[in-house]
Amino acid sequence: MGKDFKIAIIGSGTMGNGIAHVSAQSGFNTLLVDINQNQLDNALSTIEKNLDRQINKNIISKTDKKNILNNISINTAIQSCKDMDLVIEAIPEKYDLKVSIFKELDFICKKSTILASNTSSISISNLGNQTKRPENIIGMHFMNPVPIMKLIEVIKTIHTSESTIKTIIDIGKKMNKIPVECNDYPGFVSNRILMPMINEAIFCLEQNVATKESIDQIMKLGMAHPMGPLELADFIGLDVCLDIMEVLWIGFNDSKYRPCTLLKTMVSSGLLGRKSGRGFYTYD
Ligand code: NAD
Repeated sequence: MGKDFKIAIIGSGTMGNGIAHVSAQSGFNTLLVDINQNQLDNALSTIEKNLDRQINKNIISKTDKKNILNNISINTAIQSCKDMDLVIEAIPEKYDLKVSIFKELDFICKKSTILASNTSSISISNLGNQTKRPENIIGMHFMNPVPIMKLIEVIKTIHTSESTIKTIIDIGKKMNKIPVECNDYPGFVSNRILMPMINEAIFCLEQNVATKESIDQIMKLGMAHPMGPLELADFIGLDVCLDIMEVLWIGFNDSKYRPCTLLKTMVSSGLLGRKSGRGFYTYD
């Protein structure tokens, strides 16, 4: 895999701009695609700001910044992905939306292109089944904020080939991340464990076991978690937490994964956490 290896990222929101940042910083020819030109412009300015932060911390030089930005191009047309070696999808967590992008990419891209999804919970096997290249389909679950978090959860299906897995592990390492493999199961490993914990913290609040501050303090001080579960839910987005709990609940058909009513009520009331200015806490 040389410098000419081409990576496209579809969706330039929170995750897409972070993935484009680390891809370009690792020397890959990087294409960022979004249906919304404003999102692309915002993504580029976010990447610039984050690169400036890295300059201030002496992690990169001004010349590095210039070279990294030179590695990134943007486009609003998905057809621009046709010659890519790897496409990483990072569009919203909606099953129908992802299925239609995977079908379109399968049609547009050359036969050898690997199609990866950054989904938090949607079945990679189902996405693969929509294509004629299930051996080239894999999950590449980056963590937020991408430039800082080391893990990539690499999700394999029954059909994912050894060469696809090897390429993705190599790319992950080249991006200075630590790729860790798991199999395609609802919620994979990260969210299967994290989300029920967050959901249980919301049950504790609903049942008045403790205040939100006390729940977060108990988990931070007692379990050495850097953020309390309610604070973390606000950071992730309560709508995202609910979507993932529903995937677990439907996927395992087990009532232990039922989403807490308070979580559902907050999402339907537009209290989504940091991004909406109010969740369990209030933000400026
Ligand atoms: P986001 O809403 O911030 O960004 C999504 C982007 O996709 C937007 O810019 C939107 O314009 C674009 N988009 C929508 N439809 C498109 C299409 N058809 N073609 C091209 N672009 C399109 O979402 P996000 O938080 O970055 O999440 C993206 C994915 O990453 C989701 O699957 C999510 O579950 C996963 N994820 C999110 C986090 C997180 O903390 N936010 C962490 C890990 C994984």
